[in-house]
Amino acid sequence: MSLPASRGTYALVLRKDTEAALQVGRLGYFAFPKGYYIYAGSALGRGGLAARLYHHLAFAGKPRWHIDYLRRHALVVEIWVAEAQTRMECRFADALADLSGSTLVAPGFGASDCNCRAHLYYFKRRPRFATFNRQLHLAAAGIAACRIPADPVANPQPPIK
Ligand SMILES: [Zn+2]
Repeated sequence: MSLPASRGTYALVLRKDTEAALQVGRLGYFAFPKGYYIYAGSALGRGGLAARLYHHLAFAGKPRWHIDYLRRHALVVEIWVAEAQTRMECRFADALADLSGSTLVAPGFGASDCNCRAHLYYFKRRPRFATFNRQLHLAAAGIAACRIPADPVANPQPPIK
């Protein structure tokens, strides 16, 4: 798996195998059913997408972002990225919200700096990349993402069940 070092926006597709109530920093406690979660974020700093995605894949230590709290209990199964110099994560979140079966489980998750309801949505069944990309095209004319399958070897099981 090679990750682009350029700046861009990404969607992290996670699989959670057990139901749990988890604390998400100061946002509070929420029930997270088993199934799939997709989180939208942007990597516009040094090291670009590669640096940020390695952080998500090799999560360890003190949580920094809301997604870090969920990542400890879930496996990254796929990553969808779009290279862009500007912050496109709200458009990604719009596209996720519009996918069939999308459910809001933690209002405000990942959306402290914008007006979105959340940057994380829950899905009982795993959404398909092609469907997301069609929604993204509608939410952000001209932007298309590409798909990176997550490598289970480079993506160890989370330390906490
Ligand atoms: Zn937003």
